[in-house]
Amino acid sequence: MKVRILKGTNQIGGVFTEISSKEAKIIIDFGDDLDGVKRLENIEGLTTGKPVYDGVLITHNHQDHMGRIDDILDDVPVYMSDLSRKIFETVFCFAKNKGKIHRKTINLEEEKTITIKDMKITPYIVDHSAYNSFMLLIEAEGKRILHTGDFRNHGYKGSLLENTLKKIGKIDLLITEGTTLSREQVKSKTETELVDDIVEKTKNYDQVLMLMSTTNIDRVTTMQRVANKTGKTVIHDIVLSNVLQLVTQKIPNALNSKNVGVYLPGSVYIKRDKEEYKKYIEPFKERINETGKLLHGKFIMNIRVSMLKDIERLKDKVLNNCCVVYSMWEGYQKEEIYKKFLNKMKELNIDIYSLHVSGHADYTAFNQVIEITKPNVVIPMHTENKEKIKDFTDKAVILEDMEAFNF
Ligand SMILES: [Zn+2]
Ligand SMILES: [Zn+2]
Repeated sequence: MKVRILKGTNQIGGVFTEISSKEAKIIIDFGDDLDGVKRLENIEGLTTGKPVYDGVLITHNHQDHMGRIDDILDDVPVYMSDLSRKIFETVFCFAKNKGKIHRKTINLEEEKTITIKDMKITPYIVDHSAYNSFMLLIEAEGKRILHTGDFRNHGYKGSLLENTLKKIGKIDLLITEGTTLSREQVKSKTETELVDDIVEKTKNYDQVLMLMSTTNIDRVTTMQRVANKTGKTVIHDIVLSNVLQLVTQKIPNALNSKNVGVYLPGSVYIKRDKEEYKKYIEPFKERINETGKLLHGKFIMNIRVSMLKDIERLKDKVLNNCCVVYSMWEGYQKEEIYKKFLNKMKELNIDIYSLHVSGHADYTAFNQVIEITKPNVVIPMHTENKEKIKDFTDKAVILEDMEAFNF
């Protein structure tokens, strides 16, 4: 078999991997670079020319793993979880110039093996900051490759990792994400510990605004737990309210709990009568009306940078003892839109706290995967410091982008 990291041996995000057997040739993930610059480099047989790939498999719905799937030739099948696709489309229906996936995709489901020529591929659910993320086990020619995608063991599903890896068993080759290899090697805080940190910092505020990713469902649970511990009501914005209808009903949401409100941001309000938005707003109409009252009590609400005008407007009326919790990757703060947002918060005299835990594997997670699956070869990717993997294994093979490894 042959493995090539086409992109991702020296960067986080925008990654894609090629795996070839005697008969089949597949790609895993096809995303945009994290710097937000849309790069349109063509890949022969994937985005241009005669198709040479038998399939593209998407591990999860983060932009840096799936952002380019519309560039893939029509004749190359793309496999992606229908649920992950729906979540992505719901979130980005509300964002400008993004969102719609135009091409057909074939559903990928947890532990349902698909066959592509002589290759068998099995997705396993894994803990990550995107709901419904997969690790992929690829089997062909009597060999077994595990591609971790993005993963961790410190979220609410983290304890499942051990069992999943035991189920997978011994593998020949591990392709692992290495996001945190360039950072200080510390044990990551868990989502549960994050709850306590947020409670501690925000308990004396009446209004808490959580700047967070709408697809980070673990963080929604964290927000709910903070609310329970600090006697606040939870308010979800209209986007999150819709996303929660697609995922677990275990988290209180505006339709299954009278204690949860729905906020309709001004930018959505002005588009409310457009056909594509109606289906997202209609089910929540009554709850949106009732939320007006909740805004005058103590509450915690998720926000997005696009809600800047809403916050300015609410500042005059209800936000009299308010803080913002920045609960995302620090790196986004370099982007203009985040800088502008955070500066505005300072201008409005709103306190800001950075409280977040990473969606990525820390050293305990690397050790766990390597110990349980006992790979003969470990290839790091999705990293800015691939050499560092040697601290965890003497089986490391360090590749450059496009370089082939045959085994
Ligand atoms: Zn990623
Ligand atoms: Zn990710």
